[in-house]
Amino acid sequence: MAQKLAAGNWKMNGTEASLAEIDKMLAAYPEPGCKVLICPPATLLDRLSTRIGDGPIATGAQDCHMKASGAHTGDISADMIKDAGGTYAILGHSERRTDHGESDEVVKAKSAAAVGAGLIAVVCVGETEAQRDAGQTLDVVGTQLAGSVPDDVTGETLVVAYEPVWAIGTGRVPTIEQIAEVHDFIREKLVDRFGAETGNAVSLLYGGSVKPSNAAEIFAVANVDGALVGGASLKADDFGAIIDALQ
Ligand code: PGA
Repeated sequence: MAQKLAAGNWKMNGTEASLAEIDKMLAAYPEPGCKVLICPPATLLDRLSTRIGDGPIATGAQDCHMKASGAHTGDISADMIKDAGGTYAILGHSERRTDHGESDEVVKAKSAAAVGAGLIAVVCVGETEAQRDAGQTLDVVGTQLAGSVPDDVTGETLVVAYEPVWAIGTGRVPTIEQIAEVHDFIREKLVDRFGAETGNAVSLLYGGSVKPSNAAEIFAVANVDGALVGGASLKADDFGAIIDALQ
């Protein structure tokens, strides 16, 4: 059985003042009934992890370098994420694929580095609107999944997030049938590649305009084990309502 996970991706948002939202969340959810993860910008990871301590909320990064250390100005390695208290890394988010030209090969190498260092890799896949309109959704997702997920993973070290590019930050969400189709497909591909035990243990998150108003309906879909939430993860009240819908 895959673990239920409510993951927040703060993207390039947040300063010291934003940590007050975490205090609110910790007060409201001293023992959440599902795993909760916050991935703040790298500048806040250490502070956020320290603030949470051994509490019920995990922290993670939004990217990591594929190399362990060296001359890579501006980059952060998996060991540094661990050192800052993080236990997860989001890899291959569509904004990184677009803004930084990350290919499946790069995402795979980064994911392997994260898992190799003991982090849990949250690997993101998803089609553009043009690809969906052209009927290519499952082909695109299948290719990204095969190319971005490293070989050496288990149900404990891999999470996959299905994030249709056209649904991210737009307020548009696929139909329940469309979400179900892609999540069933991803589950099938993971079971084919890694076997039933591992394939069924990987948490599959849906991401793209998840809000308190649509979370329960999305979480009712088979093979949706949680969400990767952008905008609605920035406010404790909104993210709390999404946690409520999942737990
Ligand atoms: P959104 O972003 O919830 O703001 O649509 C989701 C994501 O990009 O992870």
